[in-house]
Amino acid sequence: MVEPGLITAAALDAVRAMIAPGVTTGQLDAEANRVILARGAESNFQLVRGYSHTLCVSINEQVVHGIPGDRVLEPGDIVSVDCGAQYKGWNGDSAITVVVPDAARPDVVARREELSRVTEGSLWAGIAALATASHIGDIGAAIQDYIEAQGPSAVSGETYGILRQYVGHGIGRKMHESPSVFNYRTPDPGPEVRPGLVLAIEPMVTAGTEETFVEGDEWTVSTADGTDGSHWEHSVAVHDGGIWVLTAPDGGKAGLAPFGVEPRQIG
Ligand code: MG
Ligand code: MG
Repeated sequence: MVEPGLITAAALDAVRAMIAPGVTTGQLDAEANRVILARGAESNFQLVRGYSHTLCVSINEQVVHGIPGDRVLEPGDIVSVDCGAQYKGWNGDSAITVVVPDAARPDVVARREELSRVTEGSLWAGIAALATASHIGDIGAAIQDYIEAQGPSAVSGETYGILRQYVGHGIGRKMHESPSVFNYRTPDPGPEVRPGLVLAIEPMVTAGTEETFVEGDEWTVSTADGTDGSHWEHSVAVHDGGIWVLTAPDGGKAGLAPFGVEPRQIG
């Protein structure tokens, strides 16, 4: 699963570099598909029933499952991009959030960048917890603790919400496999963590409510109160030597360093 992870990361890197005012979400989608095909892989999102795109692109109050198309990115938009690749029958799945620069509204940019930073930090806290977890419930507890420890936003005073209806998952031959990986503390500790386990960990965080609804397109998940959303995700393998972040080119070294966790290469 190393190769599909790296291909997914390369597609997201290409998309990140393109994000700017005036670019359409459809153009981002086409670029991600081009990168994936050029590496001899295919988009696993296109294998999901009823979905024909390579990315989900969710803007501002949209948190996940936004459909790429004609929408034009505007200055200050907070853009969550979710992508996955299948290579030789194995899958990768990862998501990033990027804030489009906006010199005229530094307050909006600061608020949205903080939301993205907190969400990404909670992802790394969850991955770090997996390194020593006995059960996968430890991941959700670490994500929730991390977000609650941020307190209200230093920039806006908002408290952050964690989506409850959407969760991470196992990944392997299929993009979505059991078990569910919750982004919050659960009474049930969940399955045991053992070598061979591969999880897609993906906190979805809002600058307000945890309540969401599905838009009229039957895909896009937006916040009920219209506050901003952010989504970060990595596919992470547990092996005999430790953990390795498959969708990070450095295996997660930089992201895990603040938590005192050292990823170990597989094999
Ligand atoms: Mg994903
Ligand atoms: Mg996923």
